[in-house]
Amino acid sequence: MQTLKNSQLLDQEIRELIISHEKVAHVQLNNPLDHALLILIKSGYTAIPVLDRDYRIQGQISKAKILDSILGLERIEMERLNDLKVKDTMETEMPIMSMNSTFGEALTRSINHPFVCIEDEDGAFVGILTRRSILALVNRYFKHT
Ligand code: AMP
Repeated sequence: MQTLKNSQLLDQEIRELIISHEKVAHVQLNNPLDHALLILIKSGYTAIPVLDRDYRIQGQISKAKILDSILGLERIEMERLNDLKVKDTMETEMPIMSMNSTFGEALTRSINHPFVCIEDEDGAFVGILTRRSILALVNRYFKHT
C-alpha cells in the first residue's frame, strides 16, 4: 500500500510547483558581469538562469563563478567585471526539464542542483523548480500519510 502511495507522489506532475518566469531573476548572454553580479546581490540568490534573446535557457551564472573569473594572481581584478560577459563565465551543464516531467525526476535532479529550469515544448523558458518547493512537498506528503 505504501509503495502504491509513494509511486503516486513520484508520478505526479510538477506544474503547480513551478515558479513562473515573471518571478525569476535572470540575465542574458551578452550582459556584462557587473550587471549579473548586481542582480545576484540584489536578489540574494547564489545562482540564476541565463537566457538568450528568444527567452531560451542557455545556462546559469553564480556569484562563485563571477568571483573566480576575476581572480588575479595577487588581487581581485574588479575592472574586468565590465569587460567580461555572462556568456564567457556561465555554466552550461545544468538540468532542464519539461512541463510534463514527473516529480520523481525533479526529486532526483534536485540532489545535485538547487534549482531546475523548465522549458515548454518550443524550448522557451517557463520557470524554475527549486529544491525548497520539492522538499516542502515531500515533507507535506510524509506528514500526512
Ligand atoms: P531555494 O530552494 O528556494 O533555496 O532556491 C534554490 C535556488 O534557486 C536559489 O539559491 C536560487 O539560485 C534559485 N532561485 C530561487 N528562487 C529564484 C528566483 N525567484 N529567481 C531566480 N533564482 C531563484
